[in-house]
Amino acid sequence: MSSNAEGAAARTDSQFLGFDPDALRTKYRLERDKRLREDGNEQYTQVVGQFKHYIDDPYLEEIIEREPLSDEIDVVVIGGGFGGLLAGARMREAGIKQIRMLEKAGNFGGTWYWNRYPGASCDIESYVYLPLLEELGYKPKKKYIDGLDILDYSKQIARKYNLYDDVCFQTEVTEVRWDDDLERWIISTNRGDKMLARFVVMSNGPLNRPKLPGIGGIDSFKGHTFHTSRWDYEYTGGSAQGGLTGLKDKRIGIIGTGATAVQCVPHLGEGAKQLFVFQRTPSSIDERNDRPTDSEWFESLEPGWHQKRMDNFNILVSGGIQEEDLVSDGWTEIIRNLLVMVKNEDEPDLSPAALYAKMELADFQKMEQIRKRVENLVKNESSAESLKPYYRQFCKRPCFHDEYLPTFNRSNVTLVDTAGQGIDRITENGIVANGQEIELDCIVFATGFEVGTEYSRRCGYELIGRNGLSLTEKWADGASTFHGMHSRGFPNCFMMGHTQTGFTANYPHALNEQAKHITYIVEHCMNGNHQVVEAGEEAEEEWVKTIISLARMAERFLADCTPGYYNNEGKPSERSLQNANYGAGSPAFFKLLDEWREEGSFEGLEIS
Ligand code: NDP
Repeated sequence: MSSNAEGAAARTDSQFLGFDPDALRTKYRLERDKRLREDGNEQYTQVVGQFKHYIDDPYLEEIIEREPLSDEIDVVVIGGGFGGLLAGARMREAGIKQIRMLEKAGNFGGTWYWNRYPGASCDIESYVYLPLLEELGYKPKKKYIDGLDILDYSKQIARKYNLYDDVCFQTEVTEVRWDDDLERWIISTNRGDKMLARFVVMSNGPLNRPKLPGIGGIDSFKGHTFHTSRWDYEYTGGSAQGGLTGLKDKRIGIIGTGATAVQCVPHLGEGAKQLFVFQRTPSSIDERNDRPTDSEWFESLEPGWHQKRMDNFNILVSGGIQEEDLVSDGWTEIIRNLLVMVKNEDEPDLSPAALYAKMELADFQKMEQIRKRVENLVKNESSAESLKPYYRQFCKRPCFHDEYLPTFNRSNVTLVDTAGQGIDRITENGIVANGQEIELDCIVFATGFEVGTEYSRRCGYELIGRNGLSLTEKWADGASTFHGMHSRGFPNCFMMGHTQTGFTANYPHALNEQAKHITYIVEHCMNGNHQVVEAGEEAEEEWVKTIISLARMAERFLADCTPGYYNNEGKPSERSLQNANYGAGSPAFFKLLDEWREEGSFEGLEIS
């Protein structure tokens, strides 16, 4: 095609689409480049040493006193969030009696125990997000359920499956060590416990370790500070529903504009005398459109509806095609756009490359709509421009909120856009950004959680397997597992998480599939009196190779993305490819696990 003809085609394309794909591609690249930095994950400060108080538990009602334990248990589950609860529930269903849950918090709930900031709620539809809905016969109040209701629901799961029977709360694991002679794990805790376990399930949570910005002066600020996952209601007043009356004469700064900040900023804006929102990268914010559950509809659902709905959502958000979009919200909309485009196509049998190109257009279309929404909701033109996200929707975690953007129309709220650079430093009196100091009474760190750092650092303890080899040593160059749940040299130990497994935005769905799978293996070992189950060497090597080669398919997409925890802070590497999830998608991964169990030969595992 001549360049004139190409130009004409591009113009026609732009006219038809309402935007210029080439111009957007260039803009996205420029915005990404502004944010790229050499230090990647190292830019953050760990919550250790002088910063350890940032993870103290502000929600404890009483300190539990108990004697150290040195007994033997069939299954010890580390972590009382949805992963641990699902493992416990599925094992109870299988008739396993001796299950001990270990949890550092004061109760079950995991992420929903810690994240009680004002406005905390889930923006994945509750009818697919909450696990075990049919088992519990529970009807969520709304399409998008509040955090405190999820916390309460977590406790209901624990009660239903008798998981309170032998739980150790306020107990932090300090080491998990394999004893080859005993063929048992020895679990040490900060309570002086040294318990033995035949099987260990580790469900530490993917976002359990808060992180702070690694900037100068962070320890010099004389005012008040806290991390959003340990909200200080004593200081702010109010509750998770808002009403932060303690802030009426306070100047507050919040650092970060991720999914957490998006939910709490409207309440801070309402409560504070002055609020300064320090932004490095804007989130993409779509409408939430929450509504109460229609009881008649909910009660009409046929048995088996829950799994069907979860699968339908998961297939759609993983880029698959379904006849019907049952959830039909912002998460699944890209696929709806794509279907419309493909339906309009003369040539419906598209090649993978053509489909990829269509996906990009559908994404541009979605993000144009998100940017238009900012313009419609934010009156100040310069703030509106700053709040527009220029990247593909799944480069960062999409957000859904109806009050966040209008908060910037309030006279007491200022957006401090740092144009991708982040704040300069913290001083005794406040925050310096764009070279200017802003005096503050309180700084709220909405700076998220460690994701790409060492696994054991995020767990808070070391796992020591056969011959004294630690997991950190074994994984020095990247994770090595079979199915993401077993690692050779660490027998009878199961990991629940996202590394080398199928990942879905609806995370409890993935945890449920893992819980079913682990239970199947533990049940088999217990019924057959098999003492040890371990990943086979060859099977593990093959699995790691599969993970790496599949991850290469997403390499280009991630490299083009603005930095964040989805792309190892803009530093994709061989190691991050190896630590990736199963690149063929979670629907394929769940199917693979189902078929593996159906086949029944435990291929890839050594059982003795
Ligand atoms: P995120 O990691 O998403 O956000 C951290 C924020 O801090 C980012 O905006 C980041 O900017 C900013 N930041 C970090 N360092 C600096 C700095 N030096 N200067 C200025 N800004 C800085 O953490 P969140 O707690 O918001 O969310 C974590 C995850 O929790 C979400 O991705 C989501 O998976 C989950 N979540 C889920 C919810 C739900 O509804 N189910 C609700 C809330 C959270 P930058 O983007 O530039 O890195």
